[in-house]
Amino acid sequence: MPLSAAAASRIILTRLHDVMAARSHAQAKLNQVVEIIGEGLDSEVCSIYLLREGMLELFATRGLEQSAVHITRMAVGEGLVGMIADNVETLNLAEAASHPDFSYRPETGEDKFHSFAGVPIVRRERAAGVLCVQHAEPRRYEEVEIETLQTVAMVLSELIVNAGLVDEQEAGGLSAMLTGPQRLAGLQLVKGLASGVAVYHQPRINIEHVMAEDTEAERQRVFLAFDKMREQIDRMAGQAEFGVGGEHDEVLETYKMFAYDEGWARRINEAIDSGLTAEAAIERVQQHTRMRMRQIDDPLLADRMHDLEDLSNRLLRTVSGQLGTAASQGLRSDTILIARNLGPAELLEYDKRRLKGVILEEGSLTAHVVIVARAMGVPVLGRVRGLRGVVRDGDPLLLDATEGTATVRPNPAMIEAFEARFAKSRERQAAYAAMREIEPRTTDGTRIAVMINAGLRDDMPNLSLTGADGIGLFRTEFQFLVSATLPARERQTRLYRDVLDAAGSKPVVFRTVDIGGDKVLPYLRHDGGEAEENPAMGWRALRLALERDGLLKVQARALLEAAAGRTLNVMFPMVSEPWEFDAAKAVFERQLQYLKSQKKKLPESIRYGAMLEVPSLAEQLDLLAPRLSFLSIGTNDLTQFLFAADRSNPKLAERYDWLSPSIMRFLRRVLGSLDGHQVDVTVCGEMGGRQLEALALIGLGIHRLSITPASVGPIKEMVCQINAAEIAAAMQGWLAAPPPDMRAALAAWAEARGISID
Ligand code: PEP
Ligand code: MG
Repeated sequence: MPLSAAAASRIILTRLHDVMAARSHAQAKLNQVVEIIGEGLDSEVCSIYLLREGMLELFATRGLEQSAVHITRMAVGEGLVGMIADNVETLNLAEAASHPDFSYRPETGEDKFHSFAGVPIVRRERAAGVLCVQHAEPRRYEEVEIETLQTVAMVLSELIVNAGLVDEQEAGGLSAMLTGPQRLAGLQLVKGLASGVAVYHQPRINIEHVMAEDTEAERQRVFLAFDKMREQIDRMAGQAEFGVGGEHDEVLETYKMFAYDEGWARRINEAIDSGLTAEAAIERVQQHTRMRMRQIDDPLLADRMHDLEDLSNRLLRTVSGQLGTAASQGLRSDTILIARNLGPAELLEYDKRRLKGVILEEGSLTAHVVIVARAMGVPVLGRVRGLRGVVRDGDPLLLDATEGTATVRPNPAMIEAFEARFAKSRERQAAYAAMREIEPRTTDGTRIAVMINAGLRDDMPNLSLTGADGIGLFRTEFQFLVSATLPARERQTRLYRDVLDAAGSKPVVFRTVDIGGDKVLPYLRHDGGEAEENPAMGWRALRLALERDGLLKVQARALLEAAAGRTLNVMFPMVSEPWEFDAAKAVFERQLQYLKSQKKKLPESIRYGAMLEVPSLAEQLDLLAPRLSFLSIGTNDLTQFLFAADRSNPKLAERYDWLSPSIMRFLRRVLGSLDGHQVDVTVCGEMGGRQLEALALIGLGIHRLSITPASVGPIKEMVCQINAAEIAAAMQGWLAAPPPDMRAALAAWAEARGISID
């Protein structure tokens, strides 16, 4: 009875282990290695080709002419060996010479051998060499033999690099797809350019030991890691921390399926039985799956493959105890972060001075992670399909999020062209910065208030850098997101006071916590802890704050104390019905009474406002208006609810336009219901930061915008060129009889007047 793959590998690995532990010269070791593998597989020939100076060189052989060693060399893609390396895949042929890519090398004396099997020696997903066996008898190798060969090749890859036989840098520079420059197309999520180096958010694990000392102990490690991983995944269910995206559920289901897949666990255990460590076994099984999947051309399967890769990496991290993301490991100063998706809290862990850009496989314009990146001034390209199959850790990258592209492994001509664009963009930035002192006033004299959105202490310098009129939206939950525990009242007071100090005479509008949706706090879960099916429409923002009123009370006290002697502007998110505004205001008023009773210094005045994000409020706005000092329209949430289109769902990222007549007409109605009331109206959603959208809003009569700091320059530039009355008249016409493409109509309007729109 033939031996199982595990048993055959085990015998070979044990012998290899002894050879490698000996103090002999690297070449002598390789000579012994081919003997051991050849004998183990009962094969007449066993050869090792390694990559040297871009060529695959015969380094050791049993069965071929010894005089060919270090003489026979093949280019990548040349002959069977070159093909295996190029495609990083296994070949198993009964008759090598009849394969169209066969390239005969007389110096090797291989003409007497017929069957041929070769596997790549993989290093970081690329081939560093090829291990092959040949037989005189023309027969295909058994599956068991191929598996043994693959396991041995995996061990060899470590041994070869450790022995310095191949250059780690060079190892695997073979696959044409992964060596040449490649352009990636995606969706502009945050404008900007950056050049740097790819860094995976979830770094690859370095496997230090491949051969196990104690198989039973390795089995136990994998068993525990599986347990832990399954637990994590069950816990993750419904939490937006994981893959903030609408594909969330689908992904999670797949994760669950793989995590509980007995077949996967069994294959890993078999690999351990062959003599590998837990880490190497996981990697070995992953390599095997990768190779198989490569042969199937099905995009759906490719997606699932990514899920399995994610999970396999998770298991590797768990088993090796290397749990951190790239944020926790000395980040390079020119990092371009690569991820499938990120949560806002995860992004905030990165040092923004070192983070030059982000490229995501998913992502959408108003997902909070993108808002955070915008606030950090980091360009983001999203919706890049197949990203992780093309970019490797450490690859040089040119990111042009403005154009919606990225170039990986660029050639000199590409770098030159990029640098020219980059220089131009920097010039524009400098020109915008120079507009700091200019007041945004239309040509017919309407002063537009241009404020910025902020959320952290670090954001405050943007106020003077941009010359903005104030902070129209301070997202207080950011402090909660970056904290491991609920921030204590004193800490909150300190932050709010610092923010007010930094703003000086400029107003700051504090929004009470908007937690939930895609901003999940691990330390604050719904009672009972069950996952929500639709977190964006669930227990979040004011709904959560009113129920957990301890949270709101603490925040109210902190804000009231911080604003002692000054004006406090406070607004409530996600107000759906007027009573919610009243209830939230009552929490503040009770705290105010308490402070009064304690003879504490109080704010000079308090202005209460509501955010219009839930369409239902619009229907009662005229009733609430007398109690409001201001209204802030959060178009990010408002549009997701108007269109019933999840703002985090990448599949819907490009489906609806902010310049849709539905939104415009809705906003016009909202403004109409405030007629005759003294209510300031601001738009604080992302759309206000885009020139064409801001133009439309001004056309509707909205004269206050709170936007991302990087947009202040472009918006001021646009405002100073337009006539408010003229755009208002044009907008009236468009809303009465909407043109087929509102965006095109606005762009044409601007162009006809020589107004430059980016
Ligand atoms: C909005 O919804 O438009 C908004 C400004 O709030 P956030 O993006 O924080 O939900
Ligand atoms: Mg919102």
